[in-house]
Amino acid sequence: MAPQLDGYFKQVDTLSDHFIERLRQAVAIPSVSSEPARRPDVVRMGHYLRDQLTKLGATAELRELGKQPGTDLNLPPIVLARYGSDKNKRTILVYGHYDVQPAEKSDGWDTEPFELTVKEDGRLCGRGSTDDKGPVLGWLNAIEAHQAAGIDFPVNLLMCFEGMEEYGSEGLEDLVNEEGKKYFADADAVCISDNYWLGTERPCLTYGLRGCNYYSIEISGPGADLHSGVFGGLAHEPMTDLVRVMGSLVEPDGTINIPGIKEQVAPVTADEEGLYDGIAFTMETLHESLGSKTTIFEDKKKTLMARWRMPSLSLHGIEGAFSAPGAKTVIPAKVIGKFSIRTVPNMEIEKTNDLVYKFVEEAFKKLNSKNTMKVYAQHCGNWWVASPKHWNFEAAAKATERVWGVKPDFTREGGSIPITLTFQEATGKNVLLLPMGSSTDGAHSINEKLDKKNYIEGIKLLGAYLHYVAEEPMN
Ligand SMILES: [Zn+2]
Repeated sequence: MAPQLDGYFKQVDTLSDHFIERLRQAVAIPSVSSEPARRPDVVRMGHYLRDQLTKLGATAELRELGKQPGTDLNLPPIVLARYGSDKNKRTILVYGHYDVQPAEKSDGWDTEPFELTVKEDGRLCGRGSTDDKGPVLGWLNAIEAHQAAGIDFPVNLLMCFEGMEEYGSEGLEDLVNEEGKKYFADADAVCISDNYWLGTERPCLTYGLRGCNYYSIEISGPGADLHSGVFGGLAHEPMTDLVRVMGSLVEPDGTINIPGIKEQVAPVTADEEGLYDGIAFTMETLHESLGSKTTIFEDKKKTLMARWRMPSLSLHGIEGAFSAPGAKTVIPAKVIGKFSIRTVPNMEIEKTNDLVYKFVEEAFKKLNSKNTMKVYAQHCGNWWVASPKHWNFEAAAKATERVWGVKPDFTREGGSIPITLTFQEATGKNVLLLPMGSSTDGAHSINEKLDKKNYIEGIKLLGAYLHYVAEEPMN
């Protein structure tokens, strides 16, 4: 029987201004995790969440994580909370983050980034509105709307909100592994709301993410930076070597030149072949979010496959290189090139690293340079794929159809949320990614927004999902 949700939905609508006000309060706290000067604000945001949760009747605590490695800064606390502990109900563990990306009005924002601005067309503009304060508050709002409607909360809710997501989730992995069989012990499934619809029209449920192996190539030779008028043409230049080596990794059409990479990629099955055509995704929306028409492929299927299930190699930058305006005639003494590979099933981290090292070493050797070269991985996070046939996904699909009136797309994503895999492994339970915002929200860029419709209907969706979870047969 479909759950009775009308009373809940009505309360969400009634309380919508109050919920927007709550988002305004949260956006006003500039919890930028990557800026040391803002660390007190990040901590303040954690306290704010704890206090809000406590007011709503949840048991909430702050878990201190000690100092940020290599600094004197305290890491922001992880907010752990529980709402309900009825043995006859299912328990859902949700994760989100309360820190945000940096933002300054001078970056090109139309409005003050830390003042929530409600636009006439319904856009709620502000840093963190969609990533990830809106979704995090969505869970709190769902609790409050149930209380206001006098409707029994359908599950026990465990919450884990961190404050370092935009800066590598320092300390979270250890905590999740440690609490997997303790604080999170009775979790029946996990739900993370920290990603986006593929487009702007149709909601989606996400069951896969690519991994990311990040590498450095360090080339040095001269004892100090040199003047090209004095040493140009008579010394091996690290930058010349590095540009050659980095240039050999990947073709302009995206083809990765490292042997053995594509051999590890899972073959496309007949089932999968048919999956892409029905997905609500157009090249037009892609061009809009890309900000240009410079896509490698012209068609949707190849593009989606490139994002979801094929590896990619991107060159990110060169540390130590001259990058200011002007015409400085320096020969940098040491340069470090950075690149990463987005990984997919069935690539293995170690094997991929070995292939990369071998290729880079051979490419450098071919240069016959007297400089020295080191290649190493800075960090590696594995890809993740869950079963979308699980009751956790079934419940989310039914809730989506109820709230939005359409069946959701089942999607994968090209990016990485490394903690997804950690939650899956630490709890041994199915993990679902249930996004609230849409593809044009601009999570990490200027003018970040969450559409009011996505926020309010998203609160309904999170609550409805919990009701359907309570009714799904275990499979
Ligand atoms: Zn996020």
